[in-house]
Amino acid sequence: MAQASNLGFPRIGERRELKKATEAYWAGQLEREALLATGAELRSANWNKQRAAGIDVIPSNDFSFYDGMLDMACLLGNVPARFDWDGANAGIDVAFSMARGTDSAIACEMTKWFDTNYHYLVPEFSAETSFKLAASKIFDEFVEARDQGIHTRPVLIGPATYLSLGKVTDHSGLDKFSLAGALTDVYVDVLERLAELGADWVQIDEPIGALDLTDTQRAVIETAYARLAAVSGIKIMLASYFGELRDNTALFLGLPVAGLHVDAVRGRDEAAALAAGIGDRRTLSLGLVDGRNIWKTDLGAAREILAACQAHVTSERLQIAPSCSLLHSPVTLRHETQLAHGLCDWLAFAEEKLAEIVFLARAADGVVDNAVAADNQRAMHHRARSTLIHNDLVQRRVAALTAADYRRRSAYPERARQQQAKLKLAALPTTTIGSFPQTQTVRQTRAGHKKGRVSDADYDAFLAAEIDTAVAMQEDMGFDMLVHGEFERNDMVEYFGEQLEGYAFTKLGWVQSYGSRYVKPPIIYGDVSRPTAMTVKWSKYAQSRTRKPMKGMLTGPVTMVQWAFVRDDQPRADTVKQVALAIRDEICDLEKAGLAAIQCDEAAFREGLPLRRSDWPAYLDWATAAFRLAAGGVADSTQIHTHMCYSEFNDIIEAIAAMDADCISIETSRSQMELLDAFAAFAYPNEIGPGVYDIHSPRVPSVDEMVELLEKAINVLPVARLWVNPDCGLKTRGWAEVKPALENMIEAAGRIRARYVSAA
Ligand code: GLN
Ligand code: ZN
Repeated sequence: MAQASNLGFPRIGERRELKKATEAYWAGQLEREALLATGAELRSANWNKQRAAGIDVIPSNDFSFYDGMLDMACLLGNVPARFDWDGANAGIDVAFSMARGTDSAIACEMTKWFDTNYHYLVPEFSAETSFKLAASKIFDEFVEARDQGIHTRPVLIGPATYLSLGKVTDHSGLDKFSLAGALTDVYVDVLERLAELGADWVQIDEPIGALDLTDTQRAVIETAYARLAAVSGIKIMLASYFGELRDNTALFLGLPVAGLHVDAVRGRDEAAALAAGIGDRRTLSLGLVDGRNIWKTDLGAAREILAACQAHVTSERLQIAPSCSLLHSPVTLRHETQLAHGLCDWLAFAEEKLAEIVFLARAADGVVDNAVAADNQRAMHHRARSTLIHNDLVQRRVAALTAADYRRRSAYPERARQQQAKLKLAALPTTTIGSFPQTQTVRQTRAGHKKGRVSDADYDAFLAAEIDTAVAMQEDMGFDMLVHGEFERNDMVEYFGEQLEGYAFTKLGWVQSYGSRYVKPPIIYGDVSRPTAMTVKWSKYAQSRTRKPMKGMLTGPVTMVQWAFVRDDQPRADTVKQVALAIRDEICDLEKAGLAAIQCDEAAFREGLPLRRSDWPAYLDWATAAFRLAAGGVADSTQIHTHMCYSEFNDIIEAIAAMDADCISIETSRSQMELLDAFAAFAYPNEIGPGVYDIHSPRVPSVDEMVELLEKAINVLPVARLWVNPDCGLKTRGWAEVKPALENMIEAAGRIRARYVSAA
């Protein structure tokens, strides 16, 4: 019989129980025992949900109080020296100190888990690194489930992925892959211990199978699995996900493991070939249900892939699974009663995906639940034809686009001339990235208005007063280009999504972003359009309060799509075009309303990069085109800004230039302007505002520091095209630090002007 299997279930709870408990624990309001009890309840509920749904292979150790990579670091005793770990059991308090930092030790770095919006804690290696079995979580949770009558398959992140995603933090010149042998020793211990406890299978995740691998990484994989597969009494289900195996296929098929899991959603085209190659002794786990999106599986289409694989694999050696852990899906649809009529019928969150997995596993054995199949087909049919999705006007507009729509009227030099004539900006103009501190009052008033406790009139008066204060402050400080402060916005995607057709918002559709931070991504379910202006009212008001130029403030099309659950019935490139047109309309309306500069933030531009290099050009093509489409409707004299809050541009600088924004502001202060090298080496042709004020910390940078950073910038970029601004928006900061920091920034700009500009 084919088995219904799962790779991981969301641990946050239906109502964010995990967040509430961990944050209460951190705040000292909840005892450790109570926190542990909440964890145990969530695990038990999840195991029982999976069992009740008919899942045969249920994971354990997929739970975490913070992050699975962090748990691996604890299991492996890979705790950086600065945390003063006593070398005994590395339990949750050690994990929390690594994740959050302590008075004396800064937290471990966090970064994105492949191309998801989940973040993991980056393992740290140094010349001192050694490994040993140091935590009992994986064993405890296996036993805990066993005591509840549930036999689980424990989950681990594999040694090759662990090493590949970690970084060397000292200057020893250590080759981290040289640690593979010592690391594998501990994995051997873990497997032996699990076998002793009665585990017959273990799931080892190696999502780097979806990446371009170096020869070193390949060698690490080969050597590690030769050893791990030799541990007796326990079988390995090696899981690759998040993409196709492509040129890693032979490597993975050649490993002596007992089972291989593959992503048959993103890798649907490879699935049959993998099934043909797996031989007649190993188990194939087919990830047929998308673990990281929210759409119902087209069960008919999934059965076709399944059938193609079944030509090669008997059902005794077949498991049906989600493509990856369901961690990246919201928990359940049961509470989403407010969603637009019909929409719920098209969706499947983690719980609903379990039922799909079970259906497909039974179907593999020829037991087809016809009622489920018919209902699924009806839903697919309904969705494909629904008027909720299709908007003729939008489709006709996209079809009618021509090359000219993707271009500004003139090239940058001519635009710059016209913009300068209109804006008359000083050299090294000063500005900010958009948001000002979202104080308690701002957030409370906005929430009160949303709930109806604050009237429209009172809310408007409140926002107007906030803007007045912000404008007056910027004028007093001497800013050259002002912003209105974004007090009306909760989130840079939600604010726009709520005003666009084709976007829906769930009530409890949370997914973990990192630690206790969860996000509720909007769902782009249909053709996107903009019924009415979204930002004009407040931008126009703000401009009316000053003679200085006010910057309109928008989120760009790529970011609007990247931070959402995106429809799967058309290419992303098509969806992003529709969003770009909606933003284009907004930009044009802002221009009409008298805004001479408009910033279109693309915070997620880089994150959208595909996992494989060879897929980059196609992405960069449509992503830059979308930005140009959004910005292409305005006159030459209107200045288009963009903003990106990260610092790696080396490999995408041409695409950044191809966006053709008049000015780009970027994060640079933490890297000491190093990243500017990319802009200098490439001779970036337009204006650029390298951040000189690190907004990620409450520390107020001194004038001297910022002068120094600006001097570094001047060494590599022409003064005439430089701006002065912070790294990012200021919404997470408090006024107490923002005011002096901005004052210092203005003074730094003044000193630099005196030094370089008059001399030039
Ligand atoms: N304009 C936004 C802000 O200032 C930009 C935020 C971002 O880039 N993440 O908050
Ligand atoms: Zn930013």
